[in-house]
Amino acid sequence: MTLSRDRIYLGGAWTASSGSETIPVENPATEEILGHVPAGTAEDVDRAVAAARAAFPGWADTPMAERGAVLGKLHEALAARAGDIARTVGLELGTPLKVAKAVQAGLPLAVLRGYADLAVQPVPEETIGNSLIVHEPVGVVGAITPWNYPLHQVVAKVSAALAAGCTVVLKPSELTPLVAYLLIDAADEAGLPPGVLNLVPGTGPVVGAAIAGHPDVDMVSFTGSTATGRAITHAAADRIARVALELGGKSANVILDDADLTKAVKVGVGNAFLNSGQTCTAWTRMLVHRSHYDTAVELAAAAASAYTTGDPFDEGTRLGPLVSAAQRERVRGFIARAGARQVAGDAAVPDKGYFVAPTVFADVDPASELAQEEVFGPVLSIIPFDDDDHAVEIANNSKYGLAGGVWGSPDRALAVARRMRTGAVDVNGGSFNPVAPFGGYKQSGIGRELGAYGLSEFQQTKAIQR
Ligand code: NAD
Repeated sequence: MTLSRDRIYLGGAWTASSGSETIPVENPATEEILGHVPAGTAEDVDRAVAAARAAFPGWADTPMAERGAVLGKLHEALAARAGDIARTVGLELGTPLKVAKAVQAGLPLAVLRGYADLAVQPVPEETIGNSLIVHEPVGVVGAITPWNYPLHQVVAKVSAALAAGCTVVLKPSELTPLVAYLLIDAADEAGLPPGVLNLVPGTGPVVGAAIAGHPDVDMVSFTGSTATGRAITHAAADRIARVALELGGKSANVILDDADLTKAVKVGVGNAFLNSGQTCTAWTRMLVHRSHYDTAVELAAAAASAYTTGDPFDEGTRLGPLVSAAQRERVRGFIARAGARQVAGDAAVPDKGYFVAPTVFADVDPASELAQEEVFGPVLSIIPFDDDDHAVEIANNSKYGLAGGVWGSPDRALAVARRMRTGAVDVNGGSFNPVAPFGGYKQSGIGRELGAYGLSEFQQTKAIQR
């Protein structure tokens, strides 16, 4: 069976691309080609932006509660595809089925539901003295997304933008474009007005660059690498277009001397290896107080070695492949150059497919490449510290600031969490909250996604004096 799709989606209709080239989509667990999608062109982007521009006044004028009702229908249509979503992401990315169901399908559905609910009950307008404060949609949004949570990252942008009254041109990652088609199928079925959501698959340098530099795109919402975020910001700067950036991370998991060590290490290893370590918020640096350091290293090595690597569709698999041959080479390079004590990483992995064994390094120099650069693979670094100040200093010694964890007595752990220069911190395993603001400090990004904060990224604020 082929999963090929041969159309792009413009103005509410499945349409041929102006070009004839296609992009193959590979199954990283088997190295087989799953199918092809059109390689969109700059002309396709022009047409999609024109469709989004034409749809903007009508959608912006639709009351937010009505937009929320449409999002509710979209949620229903997408929820009916939950099984297909998990399967598709299992095939094009290699996420183990259990995680694909819970996270790759479950999370975007929760986020979409959240925006539908938020929009049907709009916040009353505020007055400040003689001013009425109104929030209006930014306009036409270009959404450019990566491959690691390929539907969640799309939905986080699209549902917030649509709730706010913006119209969208979406370009999913060329490595995992298939699941985005399921969202468009759902939008088509749910009756989204034509032009409100448009899809142009394609490569970054062609379709992504055309969106980022398009004079009629009012805002670019991007998730991906810091290098691409920088290029997009440069492109948008010429016309002073708004940008929202969700970029890389190198998050620290700080385990204080009064932490529940066993739990902290177990959850920490699980976090670092989620989605084969291809997670921007992954706690890739485990910082452990010296009094527990040796035990923590042993526990982490044992936990890593217990991971079953293999076929994502096998119920027992906990670690799938990396997304591509290039990604595997990149990760292997970091491992080869690590220069630290390797305590896990020798487990056998399948010959076929882009697998890397779960790998743990101890005694990692906080200034080394391994501790500073985003690896985006199943590679954990363990670093000792002497006291809370030292832990905070190491945690903040990063160009990134996306996420983190702290384990210890609640008040002390909270005090450390407050001192971490990062957009989110989980204390003692506090669970992910899909309506809390999500985003980065420093080179991890600009702006916030999810919940009400995510909605406001897509709004302009106007003061009307009376
Ligand atoms: P990437 O930057 O290579 O690609 C992301 C998207 O940008 C893709 O759709 C790609 O086609 C497009 N793109 C590439 N070059 C472009 C250009 N010149 N102009 C416009 N668009 C262009 O990133 P990736 O390899 O897909 O994803 C991995 C990276 O994303 C990691 O660094 C990871 O940390 C980061 N990430 C961040 C978050 C977050 O929320 N902060 C979430 C997921 C991934």
